[in-house]
Amino acid sequence: AGDCVRVPFGKNEAIGCVWDGELAIELPKGKAIKFIIENLRPNMLSTPARKTIDWMANYTLSPRGLFLRMCVKNAYIDEVSTRMDYSSLRFTVQTPQGIRQTPQRIAALSVLAAQENWSREEILETGKITAATMLALIKTEILVPYEVNTPMLSLHEPKRAPQLIDEQIEAARAIINACDAGKFSPILLDGVTGSGKTEVYCEAVEHVLRHGKQVLILLPEIALTHAMQARFVQKFGVDVKLWHSNLGIKQKRTTWQHIADGKPAVVVGARSALFLPFQSLKLIVVDEEHESSYKQEEGLSHNARDMAIVRAKFEACPIVLASATPSLETFNNAQTGKYAWLKLTARATGAQMPSIELLDMKQFKLPKGEFIAPPLLDAITKNLGAGHQSLLYLNRRGYSPLSICRGCGHKLECPSCTAWLVEHKRTGKLCCHHCGFETPPPNTCPSCLIPSDFVACGPGVERIYEEIKNKLPQAKCVLMSSDSDNASEILQKIAKNEYDIIIGTQIMAKGHDFPNLNLVGVVDGDLGLSTLDLRAAERTFQVLQQVVGRSGRHNLGGQAIVQTYVPEHAMMQALTAQKRDEFYERELEHRQRGNWPPFGRLALLMISTPKQNNPLTFAQELLKCAPIMNNVEIMGPAEPSLSILRDRKRIMFTLHGNKSTDLSAYIRNWLKLAPKFLHFVRVRVDIDPLRFE
Ligand code: ADP
Ligand code: ZN
Repeated sequence: AGDCVRVPFGKNEAIGCVWDGELAIELPKGKAIKFIIENLRPNMLSTPARKTIDWMANYTLSPRGLFLRMCVKNAYIDEVSTRMDYSSLRFTVQTPQGIRQTPQRIAALSVLAAQENWSREEILETGKITAATMLALIKTEILVPYEVNTPMLSLHEPKRAPQLIDEQIEAARAIINACDAGKFSPILLDGVTGSGKTEVYCEAVEHVLRHGKQVLILLPEIALTHAMQARFVQKFGVDVKLWHSNLGIKQKRTTWQHIADGKPAVVVGARSALFLPFQSLKLIVVDEEHESSYKQEEGLSHNARDMAIVRAKFEACPIVLASATPSLETFNNAQTGKYAWLKLTARATGAQMPSIELLDMKQFKLPKGEFIAPPLLDAITKNLGAGHQSLLYLNRRGYSPLSICRGCGHKLECPSCTAWLVEHKRTGKLCCHHCGFETPPPNTCPSCLIPSDFVACGPGVERIYEEIKNKLPQAKCVLMSSDSDNASEILQKIAKNEYDIIIGTQIMAKGHDFPNLNLVGVVDGDLGLSTLDLRAAERTFQVLQQVVGRSGRHNLGGQAIVQTYVPEHAMMQALTAQKRDEFYERELEHRQRGNWPPFGRLALLMISTPKQNNPLTFAQELLKCAPIMNNVEIMGPAEPSLSILRDRKRIMFTLHGNKSTDLSAYIRNWLKLAPKFLHFVRVRVDIDPLRFE
């Protein structure tokens, strides 16, 4: 069991993994694997790894083979089938060795040496390099594809490890003790923003490394992994392995082999790192554990944080969940003693927490097209005068989220989704943020056909940037969102204090440590509060707390101003009074009353068809065969707010059960009883859903 083998499969061959006397996949009736052609890697998947996969497959109702594929695809990768984005390439080596030199390549290298970063088009436009040569250079990793939005360089200047303060020492000791105990122990590392959580778990990482074992650190975003890698390399002087989807194939393979060989290692990665073939995993860290980006919604739906906990259980090792704003689930588990609870109450640098002020927007009558109230503008102006940095936060890309025709009131909509088109002035396009559809603005209104005259409704970051530029022309401003294509450069310049005002989306909210930033203005604190989602208040609190936490991290007296129409909202009050636990407890009470998570359980069943068909008919048929079970309530069929997505019409059921209800088993039974649907009907199951649209 656990060996990776090549076997005959029908007329072909296939690579698979031996599964405790059976196979990882179900074969058609009467078929069997007759023999093993080659044992490619004995013990590729340890017993805990296989048990985790079994658990995940069972829990999420997904085939085991799909999870297995995540584990092996970087070891025995099929290069033809991996789609790679070659639009941005970095020239890495000036004098390659061990590579066959052809005249074309020598010529190509001298052309490429002119600059580091190239786009595919630029390379081809030189006229000296053919597509084939370019591909060869990519294969030999002389040109390395990279993600334009990913900062490649560390923001942190090398520094010596700080002397830990008492709280940190105590927390670090507790984690190290748990590592030595060699048992499953979940730990919430709960510390305010800037309290030095990273330094704390680093101590434990170092301890495990010294014993020659393996550590996995999960981060919610690829952008953060590079900065973290740099920090670790400084600290330990060891090779820290990065893992995320944008790495080159060669690097992935090397890391994969290293881990599969059971060599000591720290892996810093995004959620896919969970599928590496660890042999001696002794510590898992999930940083910013509350982040919803740990949940994969598309395809193989699963929550990497929860799966990491399952893995730790099978590995019998500690798992550290770190956050300044834990999820309610985790908070509840800490409160009830299911998780150990380590608290860091002060900023490690000695800096005070920022003061937070609410601006009641009902008081102000702003001119049309303006969104910054006078007190916030004053604060920014003052801060500018003092030579400090300000951050204006709005989690909405583009210029304006909605365009309405002045003539007939028609709203510009995505042709494939139930969603408005977002205007992006920088690119001169209208975009759907759900499916990626893009179009230039129409010349006439598609409805009344008069020449275009659209009103932009509401702001995106581009519009705030424009407003600030108008009001404070002397300030050096920069826009930072996932649309910025030189993100790494911008982040470095911010750290070097080359900008006065940063206007940014979610990408600016987490992880960063900018020394001169001491004013954070939240343009629309209510964004996110109005969604029909049981976690709306929790999630808004978390993101506001995180973004506000960027302010005054290094003794400059941080300040935060939140614009809101509902200053009386309990969440807003808790935010300003810094009463997180009281807010969490009240939220938990609400959840308990309705038996919502973390007390009860939820699952989602999404039925979709091409939009010319009607999924409702199939949903109704499905409902007819739902087994009756005491404590499972089925809500629906109902239309989600995104009732059409990527040209598919959708209908959903929400299942609500008790904590002890096995919703996965229930749904499995249900789907067994269901009639065989036509091929165009898709049923997607989402256990513990985070989005309900
Ligand atoms: P968190 O992850 O809790 O937000 P970090 O670990 O990123 O906090 O630490 C925040 C900042 O404080 C970093 O610049 C870090 O180097 C610094 N820091 C951490 N611990 C100490 C300490 N004991 N003394 C001085 N500075 C510290
Ligand atoms: Zn769309």
